[in-house]
Amino acid sequence: MTAEIICVGTELLLGDILNTNARFLARELAALGFDVLHQQVVGDNAARLEETVRAAMARSDLLVFSGGLGPTADDLTKETVARCFDDEMRFEPKVLEDIRAFFTSTGRTTPANNEKQALVPQKGGWFENPNGTAPAVWFEAGGKRAVLLPGPPSELEPLWKSAVRPFLQKGQTRVLQSLVLRLCGIGESHAEELLGHLFGNENPTAAVYAKTAELTIRITAAAPDEERARAMCREYAQNFYRLAGEYIYAEGEEGLEYALVDALRQKGLTLATAESCTGGLVSQLVTNVPGASEVFGFGFVTYANEAKQKLLGVSAAALEQHGAVSHQVAAAMAAGAARAAGADVAVALTGIAGPGGGTPEKPVGLVYLGAARGGEVFVKRLDLGKRDRATVRLAAAKNALDAARRLALGLPLPGAVRAEDIPE
Ligand code: ATP
Ligand code: MG
Repeated sequence: MTAEIICVGTELLLGDILNTNARFLARELAALGFDVLHQQVVGDNAARLEETVRAAMARSDLLVFSGGLGPTADDLTKETVARCFDDEMRFEPKVLEDIRAFFTSTGRTTPANNEKQALVPQKGGWFENPNGTAPAVWFEAGGKRAVLLPGPPSELEPLWKSAVRPFLQKGQTRVLQSLVLRLCGIGESHAEELLGHLFGNENPTAAVYAKTAELTIRITAAAPDEERARAMCREYAQNFYRLAGEYIYAEGEEGLEYALVDALRQKGLTLATAESCTGGLVSQLVTNVPGASEVFGFGFVTYANEAKQKLLGVSAAALEQHGAVSHQVAAAMAAGAARAAGADVAVALTGIAGPGGGTPEKPVGLVYLGAARGGEVFVKRLDLGKRDRATVRLAAAKNALDAARRLALGLPLPGAVRAEDIPE
């Protein structure tokens, strides 16, 4: 079955608001096993809306609408779709009662134009909206179906979950399930070389997405039921674990900081950070994780050389001889942070985030990552390339999170050297 998403609203066309409903609906429809082959955005204009609806009806089995169900004159989705589905609207007293109760509960009287929202399809049906005044409605004609949802996400999402999804699920003979693998420490082209042959499969499908300093692989299986689809994903995932298991740090939607806090908690270890070019980004990411206080107590932002000396005990000689962006200083920062905080694991970053400040020997994107665990100190040189400042900083921070995770779990740190092997 094919589905098409139609979002109504001039503010979407103008870029005033982000079309998050399209993303929500696309994911939900895919999970229900619909093939979403088109999306449309159209303004609050009856003629163009009708054109949009007719084009969608000609090629899709299911049309899902967001927006334009409000009480004002520019809210005309219902009337227009009714016309295309050869249906008419009737007054539904139960809906008006709900609307009145909604206004009363917020201490207001019902404005006259809200009564328009009590119109529901004669042949189709409607679903009560517990978080607003406009009910969702549906139409059916000639084997095609349309579902109309209110625009505010706080209304659309609960309505979808409580009523629309179960309604659409009934007719579906297959479901889709996805499994997301998260990888760090492997570039897109290396992944392509290693895993490329796994991305052409038909069912399950697998696709790779590059994000800053990490990759995600989404495996999606179609099957008659959820359990079977999930088992197919799990089985296919084994191929990735076999070939690239060392890079897979987690499954699901949660990023590196979650994996790091998990690893520290699991091993009963504490973390400290020392940051120069990232200015606290690593500690910000770590403290995004609820409960991070169990494992994280000290984050040093040592932007100036003086701060590196004062707080972390970096020697003036190292700063002078090698510069702040060097193997030696990164190692001393990590060791100093672990010592000053009494932490089991420490990571440090010093580098050139750009756009200025680069030289031929030390270009923009050069970052040294120091990592210490129980007296052992490692340093890794990261060449993050001439990217914008925010990207260099985020990539550096993510590398630090992964390094700390690896040390916590006792995993090797690929590409790192021991501090004692670095010349003074
Ligand atoms: P209302 O009763 O609030 O008028 P409505 O169903 O008529 O609801 P719209 O008027 O189209 O919906 O949009 C109301 C608000 O909902 C918008 O101002 C916006 O904040 C949000 N919204 C609408 N469409 C979307 C969308 N596609 N993605 C995210 N938010 C949206
Ligand atoms: Mg509106």
